[in-house]
Amino acid sequence: MSADNCLFCKIVAGDIPADIVYESDTALAFRDINPQAPTHVLIIPREHISTINDIDPGHEALVGSLYTAAREIAAAEGFADEGYRAVMNCNEGAGQSVFHIHLHVLAGRPLAWPPG
Ligand code: AMP
Repeated sequence: MSADNCLFCKIVAGDIPADIVYESDTALAFRDINPQAPTHVLIIPREHISTINDIDPGHEALVGSLYTAAREIAAAEGFADEGYRAVMNCNEGAGQSVFHIHLHVLAGRPLAWPPG
């Protein structure tokens, strides 16, 4: 999927509404429309990157900023100590349905391992 018809690029552009909980120069986070836990936030880069397979060395700081966003959201929403999961699916076989990378942050219930 190109940036032109990407759902998450449209959220970055403000063309599709989202419940935004965090913004930085490089990243944006909003609540998942179909939450899988009491807290389910998606953290995305503003730049369009389709999958983990499309991350190159020039994206290292950008991808790192998704994790500092996770840390800040966990602290702000009070689940940093309790624990949370930050996970990214890559391609259909792992359940990726939106082809703009996103870190799922899940919290507020026991999270089993291994995941399904
Ligand atoms: P994945 O299946 O890993 O690609 O995750 C995509 C996630 O995006 C799913 O958890 C969806 O519920 C979520 N999602 C899809 N459309 C929206 C939207 N408009 N706003 C918020 N979350 C969305």
